[in-house]
Amino acid sequence: MALDPETLEQLLETVQRFVAERLMPLEDRVAEEDAVPLDVVEEMRNLGLFGLSVPEAYGGLGLSMAEEAQVAFLLGGTSPAFRSIIGTNNGIGSQGIVMDGTEEQKRYWLPRLASGEIVSAFCLTEPEAGSDAGSLHTSARREGDDYIIRGTKRFITNGPHAELFTVFARTDPQSKDGRGVSAFLVEADRPGISRGRRDRKMGQQGTHTCDVIFDDVPVPAANIIGGEAKLGHGFKTAMKVLDRGRLHISAVCVGVAERLIAIPAIGVVIVVMIIYFFLGMVLDSAGMMALTVPIFFPIVTALGVDPLWFGILVVRAMEVAMITPPIGITVYVMSGIAPDIPLQKIFKGIVPFVIADIFHIALLMLFPAIVLFLPNL
Ligand SMILES: Cc1cc2nc3c(=O)[nH]c(=O)nc-3n(C[C@H](O)[C@H](O)[C@H](O)COP(=O)(O)OP(=O)(O)OC[C@H]3O[C@@H](n4cnc5c(N)ncnc54)[C@H](O)[C@@H]3O)c2cc1C
Repeated sequence: MALDPETLEQLLETVQRFVAERLMPLEDRVAEEDAVPLDVVEEMRNLGLFGLSVPEAYGGLGLSMAEEAQVAFLLGGTSPAFRSIIGTNNGIGSQGIVMDGTEEQKRYWLPRLASGEIVSAFCLTEPEAGSDAGSLHTSARREGDDYIIRGTKRFITNGPHAELFTVFARTDPQSKDGRGVSAFLVEADRPGISRGRRDRKMGQQGTHTCDVIFDDVPVPAANIIGGEAKLGHGFKTAMKVLDRGRLHISAVCVGVAERLIAIPAIGVVIVVMIIYFFLGMVLDSAGMMALTVPIFFPIVTALGVDPLWFGILVVRAMEVAMITPPIGITVYVMSGIAPDIPLQKIFKGIVPFVIADIFHIALLMLFPAIVLFLPNL
């Protein structure tokens, strides 16, 4: 259920102030130490940021998708590490339970996730199953009241810290695609679970991913999201969760782009004006999409519209976030004032979002075109 306009306004103001006054000054420290300070995490808990998308009945703020997108947009104005801390509890780590969980699962897990008492992670990707997630190999074989999970999950955000994993595993060994996959809620202290070394990424220091290895981990059948009635339904759950996550990330990316555009350019004024005019148009259209499409999200989903829609949205927003830094860098190099601007840092921060989702060939073609074209202006 949506917040009343006044409360939403207050929340947005608070988040904006928190980003500008508390988080932005910490960016370099977070990048250097590869960690978000614990007192900041505690402040995030107190602000309710871990439970933005969790319904009020289960201890969260119960924001609608459109409202959550507005908060994500503001969080895009600072290092992605901060958003990552709260990202999984609001998105891929909780929404499976919100959307398809049993009442008992919701009551048990959602209040802990909303308060930030525990951190959750989403285990879908595998060494041999990335974009084509339906081909995953992790198996869950029935033994009495349990399923025994075996397999390795890769690039798991918050994997090193999570207390709860949503694990996608094949319960029908005959199946070859998403139809034989179920989603399990797996507590991190179950025997047989281990975590690989933290992945070293080019950007987004302070956000952590790693392999999570399940070596014959016993999990009660009751831990299937939605209970045994949802056996074999896991891939659908994953796709619904990711559709929502794409909207969230889109809004973050537009926030990143807006931050970059706000950096004042000195010199080459006409070039800057032309570029800003161009970017403004792109940003506006992506911003409009990121902030308005979510309003229609429940209707669109109810009508069973192809989730490709959301894929298109995320590409569009990422495009904006990705094209802005190279253009900015080119402008600054031309005007000879490259030092001390955070463009490189912000650019590195956005790259993992793109890798994590969709490769956009046209976008890559755009880079050299921009770089070659601009110096001739
Ligand atoms: C920072 C970060 C955080 C992540 N967090 C999580 C997480 O929390 N949980 C999780 O489960 N996963 C996570 N991932 C993994 C992410 O979902 C995968 O990286 C993504 O699904 C792509 O899979 P892949 O890396 O195996 O690439 P691949 O699937 O190997 O794709 C490589 C490239 O080939 C392209 N490609 C693939 N198939 C085709 C095709 N048929 N036709 C044309 N092009 C194709 C892709 O678009 C891509 O550009 C994360 C990744 C990153 C980078």
